[in-house]
Amino acid sequence: MGSGTIFNIQRYSTKDGPGIRTTVFFKGCPLDCLWCHNPEGQSHSAVLSANTERCINCGRCVVLCPNGGPLPPGDEKCRACGACADVCPVEARVIFGRSMTVGEVMADIVRDRIFYDQSGGGVTFSGGEPTAQPQFLDDLLTECRRESINTALDTCGCAEKSILIDLADKADLILYDLKGCGDARHHFHTGVESAPILENLDVLTRLHHYIWLRLPIVPGYTDDPAEMEALASRYSSLKSIKRVYLLPYHSMGGAKLKKLGKPSKLPNISAPTSQILDMLTEIWIRYGFDVRIGA
Ligand code: SF4
Ligand code: SF4
Repeated sequence: MGSGTIFNIQRYSTKDGPGIRTTVFFKGCPLDCLWCHNPEGQSHSAVLSANTERCINCGRCVVLCPNGGPLPPGDEKCRACGACADVCPVEARVIFGRSMTVGEVMADIVRDRIFYDQSGGGVTFSGGEPTAQPQFLDDLLTECRRESINTALDTCGCAEKSILIDLADKADLILYDLKGCGDARHHFHTGVESAPILENLDVLTRLHHYIWLRLPIVPGYTDDPAEMEALASRYSSLKSIKRVYLLPYHSMGGAKLKKLGKPSKLPNISAPTSQILDMLTEIWIRYGFDVRIGA
């Protein structure tokens, strides 16, 4: 079995699927969402993150950088080698992205089996975009099935259709993230068009997968009631979509970008108000969906 690149493994999560879960975050994503809340996972290679507020000026990282650093995150000379992060005693420097074998990831997953069994939980493959490392994901889904561990695949749907179908077949639950349906707006917000993503969702729903739709609600960007109505209407007759989650925008992605040495792509915006969330919830309920707010 092979290996892949991940940037986090989060244990004891009660989000992104039922019960208590382990979430495995894959590196690399084909989308470039303006509001991305995991920007450390966007690139396919490792990245350095620095939190200057944590630094205690111990000086350990100064002598170790092979490129004359320690360099600021985002500096083109930084090779994300991790030498500075390895010696930092307070995690003021962290590398996101490490190669792991399927066996290593599975060892992390199976040790919490008792929590999955007691809570109806399991493992969620998220990212980044897990289908961007198809063989690694395929191996992990196969191993989890062999171990009788419940799996959820959290995908943005931007993948070659045949690959997505094969991988979705091996997962117990699909968390399908939708960022709207207007092509021009969607391209501006994410860097890709919505049509292939909606087509992939159409195929998965026809194959009767167990799907939860998830929609980030970003004020001024993805909270257009007309667009929400169009989506709710499009999927209202499909029994494979069991639930809809509205995910209120939060500013965590901006703080992470700062630590990566990148500018924020959004102006200062606030979380959606309860009135907006209620109004959008009501649209989906009107079309017969079970709607939740939050992940
Ligand atoms: S990650 Fe490596 S190259 Fe980048 S600043 Fe740290 S030691 Fe230097
Ligand atoms: S090793 Fe960490 S705490 Fe020490 S100087 Fe470098 S960044 Fe600061």
